[in-house]
Amino acid sequence: MVARVAALRVWLGEFLDYASFSDFPFAPAIREALDGLAYNAPTPIQRASIAPQLAGRDIVGIAATGSGKTAAYGLPLLHAILAAPRRPAARTCRALVLAPTRELALQIVSSLRGFAGGWPLRACLVTGGLPRRRQIAQLEVGVDIVVATPGRLIDLMRAHAIGLQATRHLVIDEADRMLDLGFLATVRRIVADLAPERQTVMFSATMPPAVVALANQLLRDPLRVEAPAEREAGPRVAAWAEMVSLSQKPRRLLAIVNAPKTTSAIVFCRTRQLTEWVHRALQRAGVPAGVMHGGRRQDERARTLERFRNGRLSVLVATDLMARGIHVDGVSHVINYDLPDDPETYVHRAGRTGRAGASGTAVTLCAPSEIGKLRAVEREIGRALLPEMCRACMPPTRRKRRRGASGDPPCTFRLPDEAAVSPPPPPAAPRAPATPPRQPPAAPDG
Ligand code: AMP
Repeated sequence: MVARVAALRVWLGEFLDYASFSDFPFAPAIREALDGLAYNAPTPIQRASIAPQLAGRDIVGIAATGSGKTAAYGLPLLHAILAAPRRPAARTCRALVLAPTRELALQIVSSLRGFAGGWPLRACLVTGGLPRRRQIAQLEVGVDIVVATPGRLIDLMRAHAIGLQATRHLVIDEADRMLDLGFLATVRRIVADLAPERQTVMFSATMPPAVVALANQLLRDPLRVEAPAEREAGPRVAAWAEMVSLSQKPRRLLAIVNAPKTTSAIVFCRTRQLTEWVHRALQRAGVPAGVMHGGRRQDERARTLERFRNGRLSVLVATDLMARGIHVDGVSHVINYDLPDDPETYVHRAGRTGRAGASGTAVTLCAPSEIGKLRAVEREIGRALLPEMCRACMPPTRRKRRRGASGDPPCTFRLPDEAAVSPPPPPAAPRAPATPPRQPPAAPDG
């Protein structure tokens, strides 16, 4: 009986506790800001993690972008700062948020400013690609929060522009991506500078052993919270793959981006080189497209993202730099110009559309040589992406080939929306390469 009552309390708690932001004892400035943001109710990760953070616990959270994790750690962080407002000493910060990419760091700073409402938050963005001198000047007077990528932060720490001994709150966002990009040693060196009496919160989309080991090393008795895993793009995303030869990909891409239903699209490519090539091909065909990858200057990247966000660019061609962490409202289509090496990246790419209750489309252009990667993606998401008709046209597997199956007909499958697509203008231009460049193995693009 007692056990049943306890179970009932847990079950009720799921629905009653923290079902509204007014259940949290936030500072008035944060309450006002939340009213302005029109957040109706906390998301599952916010319901699970905000109260323990307010109580001072370390948290390890498994949550992908789109789950509302920035507010899940940002709101308690701001509350702690506002609850004891004081001027930080010169060249110190009260809280540090580490993010793997410059774009994500910028997005976090702007979210934190939004959560602070009218309160004059002193937040400093410390990332590469921006003038170092301006960051040093901002840090000179002391700030409430530093949001940083590890490389530039360690650089400024070595230059004595910032010290972390007075920092009492540490957030490590997208920890798995941070390790993918090779930041493990740098993160360790940064954290070694912080005092042990601090609160540490770590969020990660996945929990590979290296992230678990880092959490065990840096967090004290952490509470583990988890948002429902984003195994596939949301239910409102129509996702499929099309068999297209490498040379036909530019043509098919143009048909999709020129279709009336495509209002805003992100085209993903594995490498910087291919990203540039596809971008040039789209521009020559008159498509207002921008390009983003780790080889472009930071101010250019920020400008391009801003132009895409405000609708001046309808297409953004990007490496997987854009696949994680970045939130853009109203992306109608994600187009995988090629298949990612890691099937999990597909999930993140497709997750850029169908966000915040909108519907979306994720189309994958699969060349015959990429079928192995497509099968790995299908295994990852637990369903087929290639329509049955097209599946019949796939090259035989090695086993079938050994058994002598051959002579497959060329694929004639066309999706229903094809008829509605305006005939694509030819992608070729005078000095354009006839086929995309050969692709080297992709390295993480940061
Ligand atoms: P994030 O996972 O932090 O990148 O957040 C994804 C999007 O969800 C952002 O546009 C947030 O502003 C929005 N968001 C976060 N929390 C809520 C909430 N409780 N209600 C509505 N939208 C939210």
